Parts: sequence; C-alpha cells; structure tokens
Amino acid sequence: MCGIFAVSGEETKAGEMVLRGLKKLEYRGYDSWGVAVRTETSGSIDIAKEVGKISSVKRTFSASSESMGHTRWATHGGVTKSNAHPHKVGRVTIVHNGIFENYEAWKKKLVGTHHGASVKFKSETDTEVIAGMMSEQITRLRDNEITSKKISEIIRKVCAEIQGRFAILVMVEGVPGIFAARRGSPLIIGRGEKETFIASDIPAFLERTNVVNYLDDDELVYISGGKAEFSNLRTGERVKKRNVTVKWRVEEAEKGEFPHFMIKEIFEQKDTIARAINHEDKMLVKAAKLLHSANGAYFVACGTAHKVAMAAEYFFSEVAGRKINVVPASEMPSFEKFVNKKTVIIAVSQSGETADVLEILERGKKRGAKILALTNVESSSIARMANVHLPIHAGPEKAVASTKAATAQMALLFLLAFADSNQINFGRFVLRSTAASINDLLNPRYEDRIRRVAKRIIKHDNLFIIGRGSLYPMALESAIKIQEVSYIHAQGFAAGELKHGPIALIEKGTPCLVLGDDQETVSNATELKARGAFIIGVSPTKQSVFDEWLRVPDCNGAQAIATIIPVQILAYHLAVLRGLDPDMPRNLAKSVTVK
Ligand code: GLU
Repeated sequence: MCGIFAVSGEETKAGEMVLRGLKKLEYRGYDSWGVAVRTETSGSIDIAKEVGKISSVKRTFSASSESMGHTRWATHGGVTKSNAHPHKVGRVTIVHNGIFENYEAWKKKLVGTHHGASVKFKSETDTEVIAGMMSEQITRLRDNEITSKKISEIIRKVCAEIQGRFAILVMVEGVPGIFAARRGSPLIIGRGEKETFIASDIPAFLERTNVVNYLDDDELVYISGGKAEFSNLRTGERVKKRNVTVKWRVEEAEKGEFPHFMIKEIFEQKDTIARAINHEDKMLVKAAKLLHSANGAYFVACGTAHKVAMAAEYFFSEVAGRKINVVPASEMPSFEKFVNKKTVIIAVSQSGETADVLEILERGKKRGAKILALTNVESSSIARMANVHLPIHAGPEKAVASTKAATAQMALLFLLAFADSNQINFGRFVLRSTAASINDLLNPRYEDRIRRVAKRIIKHDNLFIIGRGSLYPMALESAIKIQEVSYIHAQGFAAGELKHGPIALIEKGTPCLVLGDDQETVSNATELKARGAFIIGVSPTKQSVFDEWLRVPDCNGAQAIATIIPVQILAYHLAVLRGLDPDMPRNLAKSVTVK
C-alpha cells in the first residue's frame, strides 16, 4: 500500500531514477503519484504530481542528486492532483504512508498560528498537516540555526504528536539530505557506495544495491550521499544498524517473458512449494513446541491468508488432532478476552506488515500471548515481533492477488501440522510429491485449456464455488481470486450448505466450480446441475456431472494446495479476457498497512 522511494547520491538524474523506482513499487496499489527533486542549480525543491498510472509516464526533471517520490493510496481526501504527495509547506516537503489520526485538531491549531502568518493548506490530506507542523517550527529559527541536527529534532517533536501508523520522508530547502521516520509502516534503506536509498520495498533499488538496513519502528534516519545516520525517534540516541545482504535477484522482481506478474507468480509455484518446506527440522520442532505449550491457539490473518488459515484448521484437525481457532484479524477484538499468557497467536501475513494483524499481535503480546508468525519478509514487523518466525521463502510477490505466497503458506502450515504430531518426515514426503505433481501440471497447454474454459463463462456476472473439508476454504479463496481480478461476482460455499439457501441463486447456465470429486460433493454438484448450473469440476478424476473438467493431481491431505492453482489461472484469464489488468485491480492494495 503506497510506495515510497528516495535517493541521495551522485546521480545527476535523481528525479528520473525515483520515477523508475516508483514504477517497481506499482504493485503495492495506488491512485496517484508524485516526485520531488532538489534542483542542482537553485537548491529549491520542485514537485511534479499527477492522478493516475505511473507506468507509462516518461518525463525529465531538472538535474538533481536528491529526489523522493510517492505513490498514494488515498485515505484522507479524494484522488486529486492537489491531494497527491509530495506536499510542501514553507521549506518542508514531505511524503507519507499511513494515517495521522489526530490531524484535524492540529490543522485547526495551525491555521492562523504559523508564526504569525496562517498556514494555507492546499489539500485535504492529513499529510500536509505534518508538513505544516514541521514548517511552523522551522519558521521560529534563524537561517544559521537550520541544520540537519535541528531538523531531526523537529521531526522527533512532530512525530511525538502523531497518533497512528506512518512512514514519512522529509526534505528541507537549505538542508541537504533526506530524513525518514517510521512507526508501523515499512521503510528499508539501500546502501550504495556513494548513494543511499530509502524505499517501502527492496525492488525499488535492487538494480543498484542488495545491501540494506531495516529501519525499525520509532527510528529516524538521515541520508546524504553514501552516509546514513540512524537514531531513536523518541530519544534522539544514535542507533547502530547491521548491513544485511538480501538474496532476491533482480529477475525475480521483474516480469521477464510473462505478460503479468500474476501469471508469472502462478507459474513460480513450480518451485515455491518445495522451497516453502525447506526448513531445518529444529525450527519446525521449535514452532511445534510452542503449540504444545499452548492452552488455546488462534490463527489471525486477513483476506487470502485468512482462507489459508482456515485450510490449516483442517490440516491440524486431521493430522495433529488439534483444534485451532481461526479469526479474521479485524474480528479478533471480540475474542481478546480469551487471550492470556497460555495463548499462542499464529499470524499469517505475506508482507508481514498487515496493520490489522499487527495491532492484534501488539495487544496479544501485552496480555502475555506467544506469537508464531509465517511471513514472506523475514525482516517485517510481524516477523520481528514473533517468538518463532517461519519464513515462507516465496520470493517477492508483486501481483496484488496472492498466489504463490498463499500456496507456500499452506505448504508450510501443512508441514507444521505434521511436526505437531511428530511426523515431519512423512509430511515432507507428501509435500514433496505434491510439489512434483504441481511442477508437472503447470505447463502452457494446461494454461491454454483453462483459458478456453474461461472463455465459456466470461459473459456471466455470477459464479459459485463449492468444496468440502479443506476444499471449503479453497472455495472461499477461489471466490476472492475471481472477484479481485475479474470483478465477477463470485461466492464460495461449503458444499453441503447449498441446499440450505444459496441454491436459490442457481439459474440456467450459472457457472459453478466444484472443487473435489468425493461422493458427497459430486451429489451436491448433481443437485446444482438439476437446477441448470454449468458445472466445472476441479479434481483428480473426471465425473459425468461435469460439463468441463480441470484436472488436478491427487495429493492426499494436501489437496487444497493443488486445487487452488487452476482457479488462480482461471481468475487470471477471466481478468485478461475482460480487458482488465490483473496485477492492479481497482480499489485494492498489496500490503494493507492502514487499518
Ligand atoms: N493518509 C495519506 C493520504 O491520504 C497517505 C495515504 C497513503 O498511505 O498513500 O494522503
């Protein structure tokens, strides 16, 4: 959600570089964009911003070695050019990710009190108020007092007033360098030899460096050329940072020969499932021990990760005989009274930054709960909060619709259920053969077959999906996948629930995906067919009730992992056939770092 990218270095085309980097963060979801450059000649800070997509934008900026940019996902104020970031008040230019919850009170205070002259706010954003607060402090200083040290102090003071989660970048006219601070939203520092980057995600600067420092909550960094100074945002004390070399390859973060990231990432499942379970036994045993120690365990997740957790609820029940509660993070407050020091909260989040999940973990921790986390980003906030963290090793996932991360999460949770019942080796064996059959399945011919099925149902506005056991959550996940990229109204149900209501929605020709070929599900499919439904079976065997059949390998208990894959491909092709961009669905953002 929202992309931030900045550079300070030798580059004389910093503006162009920031524009390029922002394009690499497009997957995060946004509605408008903007870039600020410190012009070489005058030292003034110039801003260019626009509503709409950045991908096709080609433009030049004045020569500059310092620039910062932003892709906005509006929370306060409409999607307009004046609300787009950067925002400038007096000497201060700022970009911001997150929400300044108490901005209104400050806005009122500032109007009319800006050191005598009132601040004229030009936007409806909460962000501009932060710039106003900083600018107001600066106007109290004499010119020779305006130093990087002083600006850091002002940023600290202002951030102390902000309620809510944020990542901000600040440039000040007359003071070289770029300042950044975070509380709850990700910022990563890229370390070049004579240049330094700040970004909300690594792909923005990966072509220049893979050496990074992770900025933690309540930290401030000041970068200038190859220098980066870290300090505590509350106390001002200097903080030492470790250089971390990331293993992501540039190609992994690029589309390569694929037309979209979504289909590229679907095909990467040829090896991500095997990679997800590549953990030393001792880590799995440690996680299993944590579960053993629990008196009450909760999966907490959002969206697709929540459906993955629901599938894992079945894995744990079947394999380990353990009941784990599954609650969408936003609903967890109703159950927090049951959380205590004997509770284990299992957080599942691709980005490891999901705000709803983070908040539950923070509160759970205060109540003494232990945290087990599965994320795709080892240095993410959620990973760092966890008592035990298991990375899913899926590599960067850029398409908004989660595919390879979801199956990697499922594979790892499946293995964990086996670890919980002391059968790691057997779990690995099942998953290895699942991974091998998926590798086999994913080929261009299979994709083409699914595309032809997509063509047959493309004109329909409603679609239903049914499944039983661990395929029930996959029916729900199928619905999410289809809704988010193709905008077709899709709904998933437990196969046995249909006749208790939803069957009334079936008309002649209504497409229904039937996940599985067990006897009971096949008879539910027959009930649908009797009402005119067009049945697409997704299963290891072909059944006479199916009008179309998408084969999936027989994977034993891991069936959920294989079954979702053809549906991902179907959703992708429904979107493409409808002329939509599956990588950037409307209204959605990749990592939801606001509540
Ligand atoms: N709250 C800010 C706005 O609406 C920042 C949104 C974002 O994170 O992109 O402008």
